[in-house]
Order: sequence, then structure tokens, then C-alpha cells
Amino acid sequence: MGKSLSHNEFNVLLGALAKDYNIYAPARFEKQGRFSDTDIIRYRQVSQVEEIVWQAKSTYSPKEVVMPVTQTLFYFTQTEYREPETDTRPCLVFLRACDINGFASLDKIYLENGGTEDIYYKRLREKVKFILIECHTSFDNCFCVSMGANTTDNYSMAVRFGEENIQLELKDEQLAGYLDNIGQGNDFKPQFIQENKIKVNVPSVAEMPDWIYNDQMWKQYDHRCIACGRCNTTCVTCSCYTALDVLYDDNCQVGERRRVWASCHIDGFTDMAGGHGFRKENGARMRFKVFHKIYDFNKRFGKHMCVGCGRCDDNCPEYISYSNCINILNDRLKEGEKASV
Ligand code: SF4
Ligand code: SF4
Repeated sequence: MGKSLSHNEFNVLLGALAKDYNIYAPARFEKQGRFSDTDIIRYRQVSQVEEIVWQAKSTYSPKEVVMPVTQTLFYFTQTEYREPETDTRPCLVFLRACDINGFASLDKIYLENGGTEDIYYKRLREKVKFILIECHTSFDNCFCVSMGANTTDNYSMAVRFGEENIQLELKDEQLAGYLDNIGQGNDFKPQFIQENKIKVNVPSVAEMPDWIYNDQMWKQYDHRCIACGRCNTTCVTCSCYTALDVLYDDNCQVGERRRVWASCHIDGFTDMAGGHGFRKENGARMRFKVFHKIYDFNKRFGKHMCVGCGRCDDNCPEYISYSNCINILNDRLKEGEKASV
């Protein structure tokens, strides 16, 4: 079912939906950007169309809805533990095709990896319905087409935002009742980006040759990368966290266990007892990230982890291009081992 709504009508729809759902969308956080007087666009709960930033790519991805930056897993005393109360209301999330495909990568990691479902992720994920934001343009650094992540049919509703009105396609019958008596019927279907300026050639090899792990191409990142982790925190598919126990001041046998985002680029991520660390050089960390996103994950799950949203390139303070790194890797593999010495 398709509909055309004015902005006022869309706000009536959001108001009705908000009675039963938490609604998340990209919104502007003024003056919180990297440089002075710049903004970031980040996910939060919204209630009005005017709050939704649909004209630009969000700085951060929507993964925070199912993967909070900090999440308390349980509270403990000496003899017992209990899990925190959680908000049981279902969620609607406005997001683009690449990010919906990014959630598919998170689902693989949290629900299928190692044969065990992550219950904390599952509880949040089960509540989520997707509202697709149609992309009106391919943004800077996007390469979703190269990654095959530019299209999706995995959504409950699709929306084309416009200055004058809003077109939508409804696929979820549970949401149909909210649209009774609102808007004009039509046959709207969302369109998808078919070409990006940036094209990435992902190497198609059954096995990476051993020599590529020590190739000189990784050395440049030893110095250029400052291990800040911005590429990881803004990525929709980076899913690593670390766990820590927070002990309460007045009784150190009472506290809570939290998990907190962590990432392969930052210092300490691979530290082990005795001071051993697996990837001390920043180039080795870049190599690990690249291989995980376009090789190791694919070997296990038959699809690329990376969806080509380009946020890693948008947000790297050292202007390191991950998409360019994949193309360099592809060229290196074509040139062969001799070119690497
Ligand atoms: S690696 Fe970069 S392009 Fe790929 S999903 Fe993550 S942020 Fe997006
Ligand atoms: S954002 Fe750039 S500098 Fe920071 S860790 Fe990632 S690649 Fe390195």
C-alpha cells in the first residue's frame, strides 16, 4: 500500500505510532562535531518529522538502538545477581538500505557466531522494525553498490522525504491501522541508488596468500593511523565490546557488570596477561579490520560484513580511506608477491 502525506499528516502518524512504539531517527546535535561550530547527526528518539535529518548521511549509525555504547548486563552481590529492568516497548527505526544490511551483519555476529545467541542483543533486536529512508543521492564516500548493500526489501515501511510531502510504502499489516484516514493513496515504491562515485574492487580469493599479511602496503598505516577508533565507533557493522565490573564505593563486593564498545584499532584491545599484545602496530590493526570486513566474515557467513556506508572514511581525522585501502589490497594481490618486496 502506498500513500502521500503532508508533513502535518506525517506528524499525526508519528504521534499515533509514538503511543505504542519508541521511534528512533537521525537527528542533529548542534555544535557537537569534530571542529568548532560543527554538528553531528546521531540517532535518538523523535516525535516530529522536523527532527528527522533525512537530507544528509548520519555521522553515527543506528546500531546504538540494539548495541548501546554502555550496557549493564547484571547487578551482583556476594550471593546473587539480577538483570536490570528493560524497556519492553517495540521500536521503529528510520534508516537507509546500507544500514538495514548492516543490521544483517550484526545479526550474524550476535545470533549465529559460535552457535550461541547473545541474549542481550536478541532482546533489543526483536523489538525493532525498520522504516527505510529512500536515498535521494549517493553521499560522499558511499560505496554501497560495490558491496551489494544498496538495496533491501527488509522493511516494514519505506519513506521518501520531500520538502512538500512524504511518500510512503507500507508492508507491515500491524502498522496499517495507524494510516486509516491519513493521506492520499498511491502506488509508491522506493528507488535505490544504482551508482556511487566511489567504486571498490573487493578481492575475490578463496584464500589470502601468506605474503599479503606482511606486505609493505600496511606499513603506511603504522604512522598515518592514530588509533583513535572513530572508524569503528561510527561503523554500523563493528560489533566488538569489552566487559568490566563496576564495584560500588562503599561495598566492593556489590556492583554491576557492563559491556562497553571496544574496537580493534585502539590501544589495549588485544592486550593479554603478561603484557602481550597481538597487534601493536597500527598498520596491523588496519589489516585486521580490512580482512575481517571483506574476507574472514565472508568465509564464515557467505557475505561481506562491510556494507559500504563510508562512515569510516567520513570520520577518520587522518583522512585514511578504507575504501581506497581495499582497492590497494586488490591491486597488490593482482601484482603478486614479487611486487611486495
Ligand atoms: S567498514 Fe566503513 S564502509 Fe564498511 S560498514 Fe563500516 S563504516 Fe561502513
Ligand atoms: S579513524 Fe582513522 S586514524 Fe582513527 S583508528 Fe580509524 S583509521 Fe586510524
